Amino acid sequence: MLMTSLVRSEKQLQGAGGGASVSIRGLSKRYGNFEAVASTSVEIDSGDFFAIIGPSGSGKSTLLGMIAGYIDPTRGQIVVDGRDIVPEPIYRRNIGMVFQNYALFPHLSVAQNVAYPLKVRGKTRQEIDKRVRESLAMVRLEAFAARLPSELSGGQQQRVALARASIYQPSILLMDEPLGALDKNLRDEMQEEIKRFQQELGVTVIYVTHDQQEAAVLADRIAIMREGSMAQIGSPRALYEKPNSRFVAEFLGEASIFAIRSVLPKRAGRPQRIALEDGTQVSVRMNEEDVGQDRFACIRPERVTIGLKALDLDNVYKGVVCESLYTPGSIRYRVRLNGTGCMLKVRVLPQTDVEVFEPGSDVSLGWSVDDMTVLQE
Ligand code: ADP
Repeated sequence: MLMTSLVRSEKQLQGAGGGASVSIRGLSKRYGNFEAVASTSVEIDSGDFFAIIGPSGSGKSTLLGMIAGYIDPTRGQIVVDGRDIVPEPIYRRNIGMVFQNYALFPHLSVAQNVAYPLKVRGKTRQEIDKRVRESLAMVRLEAFAARLPSELSGGQQQRVALARASIYQPSILLMDEPLGALDKNLRDEMQEEIKRFQQELGVTVIYVTHDQQEAAVLADRIAIMREGSMAQIGSPRALYEKPNSRFVAEFLGEASIFAIRSVLPKRAGRPQRIALEDGTQVSVRMNEEDVGQDRFACIRPERVTIGLKALDLDNVYKGVVCESLYTPGSIRYRVRLNGTGCMLKVRVLPQTDVEVFEPGSDVSLGWSVDDMTVLQE
């Protein structure tokens, strides 16, 4: 309650209107002959939480750097609320930044660190004091105002960085691996903090991480980058359930993926038997354009049923459990199919009545035809 009213009063004070929309149009960056970011276009709505994930070197930081203003694009526009900001220097862009290493001034107190952006903008002492108090309340650090950064934990330092990046009410917050230096429990806690913070402020967030789980927890939409291009953009659910390629399916979540060796009769859209590379026969639905092309069959581990219930499904096999792993929240198996040796990942919820299979157990397993997707490279 208190937090909400503080945010409101801050917005009223400054007349700020939440987040900006960002329209990236044909944006690219070349270093010599090397294209770090190929021509990229994406629309990000006002107040969206937009995550960018991808392997190391795929162009995530370069893209963020161009939006922030410390990397000059080779081509293209970045239109923020209708205005192209590419010609504008960093300090005119009204963009807040939070990085993995916090970048706090070590010799300044928490309050002085948070006050810094307002000081350089020439605000009055009175206004600065008031807004620093409000900002520290937002990140629950009022009691730490006089401490030095070295007297804080990693999570607290990151909250100071968050308060400092947002105190001048930027319409966009850019975050580059902001939780990268924190341990797992603190990361989870800070994810909640960042999400709450973003929703309270209504600010547009563009968030780079290598952690797909973190992106899925935080983001409204995720872009997956691959070699300087966006392989796919969509909600976490859309990317997980409808990946457009093997690359995306492997990058987001677990999957068993097999090259398709041969397709027998051509029956586009209807279930048909096909052979995987190891000879395993499966039923899938193929689109016409997939027939005759190099394609992959993909099944998510939680879509595979193990045990007697599997016998009612479209694709039913017998196999042997090779690995059985009980982890908090799930039981994971690797099962080798009899005959072909095809290895499948399986994940089940450890409900009270669930049977746990030990390595060496003979099992039945199966899945429905619509749970197996056909993907391009
Ligand atoms: P990511 O953030 O996804 O790890 P980056 O955006 O940092 O990737 O880098 C994308 C690619 O551009 C990498 O192959 C990297 O080596 C290259 N790159 C980045 N900065 C430069 C530079 N100043 N000069 C030449 N190549 C660069």
